[in-house]
Amino acid sequence: MKDDNFLNAHNARHMWHPMGHPGALQEKPPRVIKSADGSTITDLNGHSVVDGVGGLWCVNVGYSCQPIKDAIAAQVQELPYYSAFAGTTNAPAIELSYELREMFASDGMGRAFFTSGGSDAVETALRLARQYHKVRGDHGRTKFLSLKKGYHGTHFGGASVNGNNRFRINYEPLLPGCFHLPSPYPYRNPFGETDPARLAQLCAAAMVDEIEFQGADTIAAFIMEPIQGAGGVIVPHESFMGLMREICSRYGILMIADEVITGFGRTGDWSGSRHWGVQPDMMTMAKGITSGYFPFGACMVSDAVAEVFEQGDATDASIFHGYTYSAHPVGAAAALACIRESQRMAINENAAPRGTQLFEGLKALKDKHEMIGDVRGGHGLMAAVELVSDRDTKAPAAPETLTAVFNTAYEAGAMVRIGGNNLLMSPPLVITEQEITIILSALDEGLSAHG
Ligand code: PLP
Repeated sequence: MKDDNFLNAHNARHMWHPMGHPGALQEKPPRVIKSADGSTITDLNGHSVVDGVGGLWCVNVGYSCQPIKDAIAAQVQELPYYSAFAGTTNAPAIELSYELREMFASDGMGRAFFTSGGSDAVETALRLARQYHKVRGDHGRTKFLSLKKGYHGTHFGGASVNGNNRFRINYEPLLPGCFHLPSPYPYRNPFGETDPARLAQLCAAAMVDEIEFQGADTIAAFIMEPIQGAGGVIVPHESFMGLMREICSRYGILMIADEVITGFGRTGDWSGSRHWGVQPDMMTMAKGITSGYFPFGACMVSDAVAEVFEQGDATDASIFHGYTYSAHPVGAAAALACIRESQRMAINENAAPRGTQLFEGLKALKDKHEMIGDVRGGHGLMAAVELVSDRDTKAPAAPETLTAVFNTAYEAGAMVRIGGNNLLMSPPLVITEQEITIILSALDEGLSAHG
């Protein structure tokens, strides 16, 4: 490994980063995170902070999970790679498919198709959804519905159903036939409705309206996150996902729950759908499946969807989709160890009280800081504060203000994340009470300095 001087000299010189301007990064190179322990990360300058974002909503078990590290090392020794394409497979992938079926049986999931991450999982779900209808002879069902503010990765399919224009605009034209419905976001919505239950009803009515306008027999699937993450931790009313489920069933539309963030304990339960008492037809998973220790993901389908494929004819029902790294043995071994450790430590059970602590603490900050327009969270360890320049007009705070608050909070001991005019938090699910307090006081410092 090169020394720190080399790292500083070459940082962002030869590498383009996701979600940033390549020129701007030359001016202000990204922080180099060098090591981590528990829920704490340390940068190249030796400054340690509580990781309030769990890497990128993913390091659910924290950074010191030795069994995952050992499982990866052992699997690399035994079989570092073999393809899962026609005719071959590997032991950890078989075992993982069994474990996932056990873990998500109560969500109605039956089979797993493995991918390298969340965008691949979403792409898989969208493609399989279209194919499902074709196998059944329903050739007209090709369109997709999704929610504004939703995030579903950056592949062309995922970007097409993405509900934030920033991820779409420079890459158009995207997939035709994708339609975006109102998000159940009480703070800002086209109905001017602040009551979450009534808003859920209005969003459901808008969905029915769109389906009837498009023609139900043209729509393949509806994709949604049980709690919208990157869009600003938008927590719907408890009735919302059930309403969407009922409408999908009524019109023969497949429901895809994008559980890339909400899966594996983040909401306080093993899936976000279960949190709302809903069984989708498909689930996409990544992030917490390996806690980020290895790039890996899955698209799970229900038994009913699986049966359509398994009983379909060879031409229509063969899956001509997949990746070199589908069912990667090292990823599968990492996922197996991660799931075992997540269950052993009952990280979901810690997510609930620590999530409440974080949410209550953020609400107290709202009482103190005018610049907080809205606080969202309270369902496991996902939270957001929305910064505004004026509480009455709800005008979003300037990007420079968010950056300034972020930087001060970092210096004061916590990493948070900027998403639009939100500061987002999704710490490791093993976080302690004291570490949540550190995040809250670091944010308080940032807001006091720049409010
Ligand atoms: N779906 C959701 C809900 C996500 O939050 C993300 C990433 O944040 C993705 C899909 C894409 O996953 P990945 O970045 O692993 O491709």
